[in-house]
Amino acid sequence: MKTLDDTTGAGAFDPLDRALERTPAELEIEDLARVVSVGNGVAHTAGFRDLQADELVLFAGGVAGIAANLRETRTGVIVLGPAEGVRPGDRVRRTRRVADFPVGPELLGRVTDPLGQPLDGAGPLRTAERQPIERPAPPIMQRAPVDTPLQTGIKAIDAAVPVGRGQRELILGDRQTGKTAVAVDTILNQRDSGVVSIYCAVGQRAAAVARVIKALREGGALDRTLVVVAGGEAPPGLQFIAPYAATTAAEAFMEQGRDVLIVYDDLTRHARAYRELSLLLRRPPGREAYPGDIFYIHSRLLERATHLRAEHGGGSLTALPVIETQAQDISAYVPTNLISITDGQVYLSPGLFEKGQLPAIDIGASVSRVGGKAQLPAYRAVAGDLRLLYAQYQELETFARFGTQVDAEARRRLTRGRRVQEVLRQDQGRHLDVPDQIASLLAATEGLLDAIAPDRVAEAETACHRAVRRDCAALRDRIARGEPLEDDDRAALLDAMRAALAPLREEDGDGDA
Ligand code: ATP
Ligand code: MG
Repeated sequence: MKTLDDTTGAGAFDPLDRALERTPAELEIEDLARVVSVGNGVAHTAGFRDLQADELVLFAGGVAGIAANLRETRTGVIVLGPAEGVRPGDRVRRTRRVADFPVGPELLGRVTDPLGQPLDGAGPLRTAERQPIERPAPPIMQRAPVDTPLQTGIKAIDAAVPVGRGQRELILGDRQTGKTAVAVDTILNQRDSGVVSIYCAVGQRAAAVARVIKALREGGALDRTLVVVAGGEAPPGLQFIAPYAATTAAEAFMEQGRDVLIVYDDLTRHARAYRELSLLLRRPPGREAYPGDIFYIHSRLLERATHLRAEHGGGSLTALPVIETQAQDISAYVPTNLISITDGQVYLSPGLFEKGQLPAIDIGASVSRVGGKAQLPAYRAVAGDLRLLYAQYQELETFARFGTQVDAEARRRLTRGRRVQEVLRQDQGRHLDVPDQIASLLAATEGLLDAIAPDRVAEAETACHRAVRRDCAALRDRIARGEPLEDDDRAALLDAMRAALAPLREEDGDGDA
């Protein structure tokens, strides 16, 4: 404006000139506001006029925030940084964009916060692109049925609660029942599957997150995994956006045609962070003091997991949300919501955990609504027997425990069921490939282990795996490729294993329970 004045000599009192001079200044005022009050995770600001919903704003100290409640006079802002970084009276600037997260292959092997800031001290991220953390889920027309298994490497899950690529399977259980162990083992098992993994930690203790990262690194999985962390000490706003941010990174891989696995550990803490924010934003609390849209925040997250049709690249996003129950109450608000949103659940029982039956998966209380269709055919030959034998065993065992006399047939079932139970045990970090799993399950369900003492079942399994590798190498390859188990294949496996087990059999030939 000044130059215009100087060159034209029109003078500072020209009305048009004065109007022009005012315009940019007015825009600037609209872009700025002041902090009126700030609490634990939420600030209230005054002065913004027409912010977008969820627009990113920047506080004077450099901390970012998300506009949440847009009112005439006050705007509630979710603070995405330390509360000390925001003081009443500080200026806030609008950015005209929403929160976003970096995407690209450079993310693999890295640990970041939900804003994409590295937390691993390995230098800046060299990603070229960022995408909004909340995006609409792929429309139905772009989705394909789940048709490929996502092998967890855990016998009890792959056989009885199979997960398919593009499925959403809840992992739920009380605290310290092995929920994280199941999720981490599943990531570790993707070594040869080509599946990219994302582990999103929400509200966890730093030590727990460090343990997961260490397990991933030592298991050789970190370089095909992104870890997104908003720990328990992080502001609730960061904990709230973490799953959405992690999903944005996951979706970018899926859109390139890749198969992606994402673990949200855990959504109970995510819900609590959102409840805290909602109370601070003075939104009306409902059941268990959660706000009315608590169902929606989880459904819009999990809707993003899917299997895309071939013409859209054929990629998939499989979600394993973790939920912590209190005193095994799966009918509490957040668990019921999530059970209804997901395609099944793996239920971990504290009772089994106490008995040392690990992983503590309660097969009777676990379901997979779509995974069965994607399960490799070889499992079909063993999985049906497994569920039945195990259920019968559990029922009989309850009777037998009270000293009830049981007949020969029941005793036989107890013996068999006990071996099935032993075979379902699996140490953390000992994920098994498909042919090894089939061998173990077949040996147990066909009674090959009946004469093996329960405490030697693990040893017997190893002997079986070794024998099958040696005698049935070609058959192993066919099973791994997804071919069905024909009758003579089954016989060949049983022959190889029977020979290997001979030295381990008990003399009397009837191992009791
Ligand atoms: P939290 O509620 O604290 O998040 P969690 O349910 O995620 O706990 P984990 O941390 O996975 O449980 O496991 C609890 C403990 O049980 C850990 O010490 C873990 O090493 C052990 N554990 C879990 N699964 C197995 C297993 N299959 N074999 C041996 N140990 C296991
Ligand atoms: Mg855990």
